[in-house]
Amino acid sequence: MNSRAPENVLIAHGHRLTEPRQRLIAILSQWPSRFSAGELVKAARKAEPPIGRATVFRTLGLLLELGIVERVRGADDSEGYVVARRGDHHHHLVCSSCGRVEDLPLCPVEGRLKELAAERRFQVQGHNLEVYGLCEGCVKADEK
Ligand SMILES: [Zn+2]
Ligand SMILES: [Zn+2]
Repeated sequence: MNSRAPENVLIAHGHRLTEPRQRLIAILSQWPSRFSAGELVKAARKAEPPIGRATVFRTLGLLLELGIVERVRGADDSEGYVVARRGDHHHHLVCSSCGRVEDLPLCPVEGRLKELAAERRFQVQGHNLEVYGLCEGCVKADEK
């Protein structure tokens, strides 16, 4: 049993794996890129049978809380989400063209940030960092 699978995380935290939740998780797992709540609502509406807007928002909130989905802001500061593939601290490379999100396995700023904060006697509790640009596929498509 894969304990990181969204279905199992839900159950492990005492939540019910209702049929709409299960189907929403299935939709999310197939999502190739960053998505907005609006896009998810649209996809859920097209599902057979459709999943209601309130269920989508409630489930999205729950999945965020459980770390199954994580927030990834767009280059334009728009709100967006992606299915979390890592449980540990990490950052993202976000494609501004197709919305593809790649995980950076290492934190490139941790050490330097600690130094800078220590100089100011600041106690660091965490940080956010998203990197925006064009993914390999979009760069190639651009060159054609
Ligand atoms: Zn791209
Ligand atoms: Zn970091």
